[in-house]
Amino acid sequence: MSVKLETRGLGKTYGQFVALQPTDIQVREGEFLTLLGPSGSGKTTLLQMISGLVPPDSGQLLIDGQEATHIAPGKRGIGLVFQSYALFPHMSVRDNVAYGLRMRKYPKAEVSQAVDDALAMVRMEDFAHRYPNELSGGQQQRIALARCFAYRPSIILLDEPLGALDKNLREHMQLEIRRMHKELGATFIYVTHDQEEALTLSDRICLMNRARIEQLATPEELYDRPATRFAAEFIGHSNLLQGQRDGTGHLQVEGQRLDLTGCAGHQAPSAGTEAFLLIRPEAARLTDPAAGLLQGTVDECVFLGSDTRALVRLPSGNRFSVRCSRDLSPRIGDPVGIAWDPTRATLLPAQAVS
Ligand code: ADP
Ligand code: MG
Repeated sequence: MSVKLETRGLGKTYGQFVALQPTDIQVREGEFLTLLGPSGSGKTTLLQMISGLVPPDSGQLLIDGQEATHIAPGKRGIGLVFQSYALFPHMSVRDNVAYGLRMRKYPKAEVSQAVDDALAMVRMEDFAHRYPNELSGGQQQRIALARCFAYRPSIILLDEPLGALDKNLREHMQLEIRRMHKELGATFIYVTHDQEEALTLSDRICLMNRARIEQLATPEELYDRPATRFAAEFIGHSNLLQGQRDGTGHLQVEGQRLDLTGCAGHQAPSAGTEAFLLIRPEAARLTDPAAGLLQGTVDECVFLGSDTRALVRLPSGNRFSVRCSRDLSPRIGDPVGIAWDPTRATLLPAQAVS
């Protein structure tokens, strides 16, 4: 797949403060790429430099292989959608959607057709004559999307567009945005701090932390094989067992000597080094104490709707979360073993743990 957009060392500082370290990223044609990370990690800064609204102070931007770092925002072929809908209150839905096309001096008949198409795309054909204050928040956001889609930009940047919607509507709109992305065939770069949203929507996720990229990978890779402790803890639930490697392919942890054979991230034996073993709650199971790789006692059971989590107190005092089925949930105080499939565990070197 060809590269649609590329940054080379693109960075931004405000005075002494680094908002984004020099960053290299390649976005593929037609891809849905999500910038995911905590508040303040530099997501909006990166997006705004791609849009041209914020000038970078280092590096380069290429669009379709062409230097675009200093091209005016309106001439980049990029559409933008923000959390605040920024619709014009005194204009009808139709005029709001047509606004950008009229500004760009499209012929009348073309404007009319493009507005019809964009409203159909967001399933708002029947609302063309309403005014923004006659629409719900979700409907207003659909109109903001239609306004962006109407002039068919080949790159669409979305900054937390569903942030103001409640959970059910947000989940519905996520599926709608995924459909729209497929139908438009444009390259989407989407900002969110919500990991579930990122996992639902993305072809790839660019996880950001402290003004830089922590890991760029598919949702499956990021979840199954996080490269750092930050990635492991930001996405999903994780158990991290800290221990010492012993030079024979074992990790000394919780008074046990765990065989690392089959674990991802486990290479040549290196004695004495600190490491973390990551095991997701759904990769672990409860067993008889004697059959477990680790032993502990059940401390708490948490009902999550789709399943139950048993929190097992380990000898160190740390708790280990295990997914169990509702009808087999254990009793508090029960001594249990914990077992897992080693191929679903990941060894993280201590230096990747910040
Ligand atoms: P995110 O979108 O991930 O929440 P931002 O990219 O908006 O983060 O911001 C990254 C960091 O840069 C934050 O600490 C923010 O306060 C700082 N920052 C952003 N814009 C400015 C600005 N105009 N002046 C000073 N600092 C800024
Ligand atoms: Mg932001």
